[in-house]
Amino acid sequence: MKGKGLIAGNWKMNKGIGESMDFLGRFVDGLEREGSVSELIPASIEIVIFPPIANLYAIKHAASLKKGVYLGVQNVHWKASGAFTGENSVSMAVEAGAVFALIGHSERRQIFLETDEMTSKKFNFCVKNGLKPVLCVGETDEDRKNGLAEAVITRQVIAVLGSREFPADFPPLIIAYEPVWAIGTENNATANDAQESCAAIRKVVGRSIDAKTAGNTLLLYGGSVKSSNAEDYLKQDDIDGLLVGGASLDPDEFLGIIRAASFLI
Ligand code: PEP
Repeated sequence: MKGKGLIAGNWKMNKGIGESMDFLGRFVDGLEREGSVSELIPASIEIVIFPPIANLYAIKHAASLKKGVYLGVQNVHWKASGAFTGENSVSMAVEAGAVFALIGHSERRQIFLETDEMTSKKFNFCVKNGLKPVLCVGETDEDRKNGLAEAVITRQVIAVLGSREFPADFPPLIIAYEPVWAIGTENNATANDAQESCAAIRKVVGRSIDAKTAGNTLLLYGGSVKSSNAEDYLKQDDIDGLLVGGASLDPDEFLGIIRAASFLI
C-alpha cells in the first residue's frame, strides 16, 4: 500500500434492511471507538460497502452511516432504461446512493454467464454516467492448473480497457484480482501469488493505456480475506486494497481488516 488504500465489502445477496441497520450501528460505533483509524477515512482509506441494491437507499439515508463510508452497487445494466426485467440502471443506482459499481464479479460471469463483452459495456456505461466501476478479474482453478492464469486475467483486462477512452478527469481505475478458486473457499491465494498477478495486471494497464494510469490504478486482492490475513496482502507493493466477501458481513471482522490497512498507511 502506498499511503492510500481502498477496503470494500461485497455483501452479495445477504442482509435485509434490519440486518443492514444493525451492521451499520455496530460498525460505525466500532470505527468511532478507534479514533486513529477513523481519522484516516476517507482521505487515506476509502471504505466501500456493496449491499444488495434493495437496501441501498435506506443505508444511504441512515443516520448511522459515517461520512466517508461509500456505497456501491453489485451489478448494473449497460443500457439507460428499457425492457430488462430484473435489472437496475446506473442512474437508478446513483439515485439510490451508489458511488461505485462492481463490474464482472466472477459470480456474475459464472452463474449469470456474463461475457467479457457485457462486462466491457457495463464498465463503459458506468464511466460515462458517473459510477466508479470496480473491474473484477480472476482465473478459475482449471485455468491456473493449465498455466493460463496470467493469460486469462490479461484477456479480461484488455477486453475492457482495450476498447475505451477515458475522460481526462477520470479518477484512478480500480481493478480487483479475485481468483475464482479463492472466493468463499477459505483457500486464499498466497500473498506472493496475489502480488504477482496484481503486478501483471498493472503491466497490462500500462501497455493498454499508459504508465501514469498504470501507476495510479488501485489494485485490490479478493478471495477469502479475513482480519487475520489482510495485512499479508496489503504489505505487497502492487496491492492497494482488498475486496472482501464473507468477512465483510461481520462488523468486527470488517473493522479488523480496516485496522490492518490503517497500520500500513
Ligand atoms: C467476493 O465476493 O468478492 C469475495 C472475495 O468473497 P470472499 O471474501 O467470501 O472470498
